[in-house]
Amino acid sequence: MPTKGLSLLLWVFFVHLAGIYLYTRGFLLTRLALSDINTCDDGSCKLPPTHKRAVVLVIDALRFDFLSPHPPEPPSPYHHNVLRLPQELTAANPTHSFLFEMFSDPPTTTLQRLKGITTGSLPTFIDMGSNFGGSSISEDSFIGQLQAAGKKIAFMGDDTWTTVFPDSFEPNMTFPYDSFNVEDLHTVDEGVIEHLFPLLRDPSAPWDVLIGHFLGVDHVGHRLGPDHPTMQTKQEQMDHVLRQVVELLDDDTLLVLLGDHGMDRKGDHGGDSDHETSAALWIYSKGRQLLHPKAAIPPHLLTTRTFPGASVENRHIQQIDLAPTLSLLLGLPVPFNNLGTVIPELFWHDKSGRDYAHALTLNTQQIKRYLDTYRNSASGGELDGAWDDLERIWQTVNFQATPKEQSAQWLAMTAYTRQALSVCRMLWAQFNVSLITLGLVLLVTAAHC
Ligand SMILES: [Zn+2]
Repeated sequence: MPTKGLSLLLWVFFVHLAGIYLYTRGFLLTRLALSDINTCDDGSCKLPPTHKRAVVLVIDALRFDFLSPHPPEPPSPYHHNVLRLPQELTAANPTHSFLFEMFSDPPTTTLQRLKGITTGSLPTFIDMGSNFGGSSISEDSFIGQLQAAGKKIAFMGDDTWTTVFPDSFEPNMTFPYDSFNVEDLHTVDEGVIEHLFPLLRDPSAPWDVLIGHFLGVDHVGHRLGPDHPTMQTKQEQMDHVLRQVVELLDDDTLLVLLGDHGMDRKGDHGGDSDHETSAALWIYSKGRQLLHPKAAIPPHLLTTRTFPGASVENRHIQQIDLAPTLSLLLGLPVPFNNLGTVIPELFWHDKSGRDYAHALTLNTQQIKRYLDTYRNSASGGELDGAWDDLERIWQTVNFQATPKEQSAQWLAMTAYTRQALSVCRMLWAQFNVSLITLGLVLLVTAAHC
């Protein structure tokens, strides 16, 4: 009998090991996280800020079509045209208000997406390994840059933020809530609301950036799916909250609303399907206009796509584009490991696009510096196959372009930043879904033995 028990134990152990092996092999995430910080004492790596402060609101799992004025046909009464404020303000003030669909890199889970949004970088294998335990960010980030500039950050909502940035928020303005109970649809949202409005109403409250992370839409998705009356009620609540926020906003504060990822038709996420990787972004400047009314932005800079089932094209960006964009808008250096590209509309402050040219130049130089540093690191050999191509595109970039050559230069710089992103994605963020699934099946089997 003891031998039988022992062999069963060995068998379970073996199945377990095989499960872990296959599961982790499925995530071919090999990026080395560099710990360098982007700094410049002379201010040459940043722009004058457009806004003194920012309110950044995350509605977890806010898919693009939830905000889109042109949702798929036929629209759902439960999640289309319910959260209407962003599309209303964008229609009324197209030089102050901007809607985007963002591609959020898989794995589409909150921890990984928060890292992407704040660092501008791609997932690493360490992220996956510590998925549920959480882990703090050691890379340069938008949050780290705010801190280095002496800015004060208030925070409320999903406690993934305080796991990732344990020492970054003002202790007396930090209100984290447990994000684990998917059955609970309201506690986190009510907590955010309770602490958000006193800080917005108090003109002397000492925050520079306020981050609020709502979880209800995500939890309704997991529990009941997007096509449920509770989703409509939840989105109506979010619309109501946003209207109050806009009402209280002063002219020096930029409002940023985003989803960290989307959700599939059943309301779940984590994978790389179209609906899971589609997140919404709304940027609103109540005071100064960001886009000059006579701006003639070359169309090649404004990428679009059509959301599945919709008939009208929408602006489409990468979610990691937020990192360089928010950093430069708030007068900070772009995080060192960033692979995102600045969003043109938000920097086209005069007719000629001078600020955009400046922002894109800083952004391109930052990515070049990052790639050069990576190339010289212990993992630099990973870039062997892509390096010649990248260098060839880099040779076409000329930072001393004459006004006549501007448009071609913007194209060359964007070609470089986007090639860098696609090369790195190919190298560092490949997923083998069948290995991951097989590994999970084995792990579950082993657990039930
Ligand atoms: Zn979720």
